[in-house]
Amino acid sequence: MHELSIAQGILDIIQNEAEKNAIERVSVVRLKLGKLTAVEPSSLSFCFELITKGTLAEGARLEIETVPITGRCAQCGKEFILEDPFCNCPGCQGLKIDILTGREFYICEIESDD
Ligand SMILES: [Zn+2]
Repeated sequence: MHELSIAQGILDIIQNEAEKNAIERVSVVRLKLGKLTAVEPSSLSFCFELITKGTLAEGARLEIETVPITGRCAQCGKEFILEDPFCNCPGCQGLKIDILTGREFYICEIESDD
């Protein structure tokens, strides 16, 4: 499962950060997730819960903020939210859209208990 390897990657980062900052217990992990990553937040949470058992992040809450896909039309410069990455510009119907957001995937914050 795609989400399982991602959850593993998140845990690796958490463990790394925890070591650097001498954190013994992680309570909240905040994540930004662009819609273009095609990661399903609920299954990611599920995998995260599984994979953190017995680690310093066991029972930690995973807060996922989804970032919409936004783009700018290369033709008329209009910025808008895309429902999917292959739609036309609502202004001029142009097809050449530069994607601005939606590819985000990073941890923005790790909170510890103390
Ligand atoms: Zn346009």
